[in-house]
Amino acid sequence: MRKMVLVSLDAVFEQDMKQFQEGWLGEWLRHAAVCTKVKTVFPALTYPAHTTLVTGCDPAGHGIGQNQPFQPDKEAAMRAWYWEEGQVRRETLFQAVRREGGRCASMLWPVTGKSRAIRWNFPEVLALPGENQVTKMLAYGTPGWILHMEIKHGRKRKSIREPYLSDYAVILGKDVIAAHQPELTALHLVDVDEMRHLHGVNSPEAMAGLKRQEERVKALWEVMQHSPGMEDALLAVVTDHGQADVDKPVVLGNALTKAGMKAQVQSNGMSAYVFTEKPENVKGWLNGHMQETGVSHVYDREELDRLGCVAGPDLAVEAAPGVVFADGLPQAKREKAPHGFGPGSPAENCLLAVRGRGIREGVTMPAMPMRDVAPTLAGLMGIRLPQAEGEDHSQMIKMD
Ligand SMILES: [Zn+2]
Repeated sequence: MRKMVLVSLDAVFEQDMKQFQEGWLGEWLRHAAVCTKVKTVFPALTYPAHTTLVTGCDPAGHGIGQNQPFQPDKEAAMRAWYWEEGQVRRETLFQAVRREGGRCASMLWPVTGKSRAIRWNFPEVLALPGENQVTKMLAYGTPGWILHMEIKHGRKRKSIREPYLSDYAVILGKDVIAAHQPELTALHLVDVDEMRHLHGVNSPEAMAGLKRQEERVKALWEVMQHSPGMEDALLAVVTDHGQADVDKPVVLGNALTKAGMKAQVQSNGMSAYVFTEKPENVKGWLNGHMQETGVSHVYDREELDRLGCVAGPDLAVEAAPGVVFADGLPQAKREKAPHGFGPGSPAENCLLAVRGRGIREGVTMPAMPMRDVAPTLAGLMGIRLPQAEGEDHSQMIKMD
């Protein structure tokens, strides 16, 4: 099995490539096989996208259709996220590597909590009110290793907020690569996503985040070059969605209730799921009240099925430019740039770049759906991912 380090740069998208052109990452990308038109999933959210990146299935197949399950009866702060590997309905790359005898490490990759496939797991989980962050990490991750890392590196971490959490993930990634050379090492680096949510897509903070991400990729590439046992390893860089600036928060659920519609809404940011027993009525009303509801398009179930949307929602709506759907949550007020949009957005184009021995340099891969990424990575590693629905493009970028 060919080893791989898989790095996800959250919220980095096609338009960012010009920022990288002059620097180290631009040079690295010129030696890689690259696709800058990996079309993200519907809706363009982090957990559905990251699960697609490792299963090769749309959300309809893997079952992770949002960051959080729909929990209308719970207060926002009390809502759990999709934290556990067991919630994914298709085999992941981690599980496939494990099945074929390899070892996996993961730093903050979504929906990997309590994984039996990942030997070194620093999971992305968040303590709810009344819970303890450290206890939760230990319960969902690899406790002995996390504690060992905490003793060895914990003092280097300024806080668990961004950009420091991404820095710490890279410290752990470098350590595990040098010490164990896992067959698959995955890292999810949230820095730029957080900066864009707080400050806007093209804010100086987001631009500084892009620079930091470049430094992190460089640090991982360099540790790969200097670790015996990693000579043939590939570095794959992926991203999950772009973002767009907004200035009009809309609480769609309130508008529907006021109109006498029996419907519940789960906001995805630039889109929203609608749950109702009368989708025809609600669709009709929304189509007649687009202006005041900030809706630019109503997706019916048939269209959602075509988009690979998860089962459950009866309808979905796309936000008009500048609109963000909010469930009346306080964080919507500080939201400068969300995502969660549907197909056709300029922010849908994500990155896949692979470099390493035996990979054709400078190859541009054609546009592809995000479900093609996992089978392509599996093909490069020489492992099978039989439940993937996407296409394997690895032959195009491998040297004969
Ligand atoms: Zn994301």
